[in-house]
Amino acid sequence: MQYSDRILNTPSSFIRNILKVTDSKDVISFAGGLPNPISFPIDALKASVDHAIGENGSKLFQYSSTQGYAPLREYIAAKYQRVHGLDIQPEDVFITTGSQQALELIGKVLINKGDGIIMEEPGYLGAIQAFTLSEPTFYPVTLENDGLNLEELENALQQKNVKFVYTVPNFQNPTGLTYSKEKREQICEILSKYDVALIEDDPYGELRFQGEPLPYIGAGKLENSILLGSFSKTVTPGMRLGFIITKNKELMQHIETAKQASDLHTNIFSQYVIYDYLANNEYTEHVNKIIALYKEQSDTMLAAMDEFFPAHVTYTKPEGGMFIWATMNNGATALEVFEKAMEQKVAFVPGDPFYTSKTGVNTLRLNYTNATPEVIREGIKRLGSIL
Ligand code: PMP
Repeated sequence: MQYSDRILNTPSSFIRNILKVTDSKDVISFAGGLPNPISFPIDALKASVDHAIGENGSKLFQYSSTQGYAPLREYIAAKYQRVHGLDIQPEDVFITTGSQQALELIGKVLINKGDGIIMEEPGYLGAIQAFTLSEPTFYPVTLENDGLNLEELENALQQKNVKFVYTVPNFQNPTGLTYSKEKREQICEILSKYDVALIEDDPYGELRFQGEPLPYIGAGKLENSILLGSFSKTVTPGMRLGFIITKNKELMQHIETAKQASDLHTNIFSQYVIYDYLANNEYTEHVNKIIALYKEQSDTMLAAMDEFFPAHVTYTKPEGGMFIWATMNNGATALEVFEKAMEQKVAFVPGDPFYTSKTGVNTLRLNYTNATPEVIREGIKRLGSIL
């Protein structure tokens, strides 16, 4: 069989491949990016399944609208008005099969073969994968401790046919970094001079355990702002519910067409159930529990890194989210260390797949949300002895 260049040039998920090796029971794994299952509100969701079926019957099992379940879109719009002070109306909200699908749809709608995408480097590998299917040219821009490198951003924006800039402004995957207020303002100022869209992919923003929430970079300010959100990290990833927020009506129309072609509409059963859950439970209290859990895990990992890692290893100190990013400054590569770590039964994700071009990198992504404090300490101790 002959396959398309599109698929042949798209990397299969490095992490999913790694997880096949790291999933064994006796391995301490910091490789996954999974929310902690104890954070899933299973009892409340069970009640919502019954309640939503009782109230709406066959509607949960029927085909439904491409844009998504209207009450859920209203809920999301009201929340972005309330929490972020943004003028978001229900028609500006579009429900997707996880925010992952949003990335793919946006690629399909905006990218012709060879068009430019400006990506954070390192950046979310699922976005690299989703966009690669549209055969773009990636222009990587270094992600510094406080956000994108502005000089590189300006240079990348001069390139031909650049369609959008992709960012994860809060507790980024893979680095855990958050853009500073100043950098956000500077980026907004720069982008306002160009005809490009800005994607702010924000699945982690609510999981802040330190510091103050910051305004978005472009939402409410830039004409071509695209905000992505998700219920994966705060309620459950398995129900596959994410959303796109944009006030650009033409863009929304094209996204709707692409979504029809892709899967007609997002799982309507999930949408009814999550809406019922959100309408009848204390969501903020629930999220606060997740925050407290992740804070303890993050604190434990950072303290253990401080105790067991050699001085040549530097690392980020996230204010929220699920990841810490470590950099080795002794010439070692992450892949070499990964092999040795697997012998010692401890795993992480080598930094390589988070770059669009570099290999042999010296960075590691560590996830802290899926182990107890004792296990985190033991795993970091083992990793420290290898490093
Ligand atoms: N964007 C980022 C930055 C992510 O880390 C993830 C999940 N790992 C996603 C999008 C996709 O999330 P979902 O499809 O579950 O909403």
